[in-house]
Amino acid sequence: MSYAVTLIPGDGIGPELADVARSVLEATGIAFEWDVQQAGEATIASEGTPLPDRVVESIRRNGVALKGPITTPVGGGFRSVNVALRQALELYANVRPARSMAGVASRYEKVDLIIVRENTEDLYAGIEHRVGPDAAESIKIITRAASQRIARYAFEYALRNGRRRVTAVHKANIMKLSDGLFLESCQQIAAEYEGRIGFDDRIVDNMCMQLVQKPELYDVLVLPNLYGDIVSDLAAGLVGGLGVAPGANIGEKAAVFEPVHGSAPKYAGQDKANPTALILSGALMLRHLGETDAAERLESAVRAEIAQGTTVTYDLGGSAGTSEFGAAVAARLRD
Ligand code: NAD
Repeated sequence: MSYAVTLIPGDGIGPELADVARSVLEATGIAFEWDVQQAGEATIASEGTPLPDRVVESIRRNGVALKGPITTPVGGGFRSVNVALRQALELYANVRPARSMAGVASRYEKVDLIIVRENTEDLYAGIEHRVGPDAAESIKIITRAASQRIARYAFEYALRNGRRRVTAVHKANIMKLSDGLFLESCQQIAAEYEGRIGFDDRIVDNMCMQLVQKPELYDVLVLPNLYGDIVSDLAAGLVGGLGVAPGANIGEKAAVFEPVHGSAPKYAGQDKANPTALILSGALMLRHLGETDAAERLESAVRAEIAQGTTVTYDLGGSAGTSEFGAAVAARLRD
């Protein structure tokens, strides 16, 4: 049996990370048919768009994609391909685990957080306009349906994975209507899980301080889109940085697995960036495919290689290249 998976190498450091992730995933013994789809800066010149329809069609067909980062111009230019993909495929749940890892220098130990970020609305709806030359307005959309759906996903995730508590994060003291609706929706869903999964809520600014002071007290966090984006980078920082932070975008019909980090253009083509986040995103994909044993072997091999510390990349204090680290992890898997 082999799995058909759409592989989007992406921009910047994406292609070199994708090559490594692909060979490490194959070293688990699971067979893949990679449907490689270019998207991003390269296809703007050749196809006039960073997200050709064939890419979305491929993911619809295969149901699963592994994706490298794609550059988004700041201030102007095309809209984020990452956001467009999540919206086109209704990938409503963005799940970003942040766990402490032996061998990764960090100020914290025993961090084990799951960030569940709503992925389809909020300020990411991208509805904004100029109001004359000196003002601009951006519309924040929060609906009960999307808020309940993400809250339910967080509680179901907690149940499936033996977690004990879900914390809803919001700013309902100021945005009483929009964030108020998000909080109310989470409270409604929480009532269905009472006695099985604990529930509480935090205002987002307080949440950031609490995560910096005592991250070990928190478990699963559920957040609207923008706070989820910011807090997941904060959580990645607690466990050693973007190089080791994987992510999953889950919908009813398709799932796209990608690192939290971006295309880091300054390191592109240098065989320098850390492939761990994309490899661990591949492990999340294996779990999604039901290949739990292979996922666990892959995660253990990455953890063991990092703990040993002799072939790690610059961000983890080493001098190994992207491909050297990947080869070492693959060798562990083949042993
Ligand atoms: P970035 O994550 O690309 O890089 C920030 C810094 O983090 C880098 O300079 C580097 O020091 C470090 N870093 C990131 N990934 C690393 C890795 N794998 N190994 C080692 N170090 C790593 O963030 P940015 O500079 O804000 O964004 C660059 C581009 O990526 C932008 O166009 C942005 O829109 C895009 N982006 C894409 C995605 C995505 O595809 N999902 C996510 C975030 C940012």
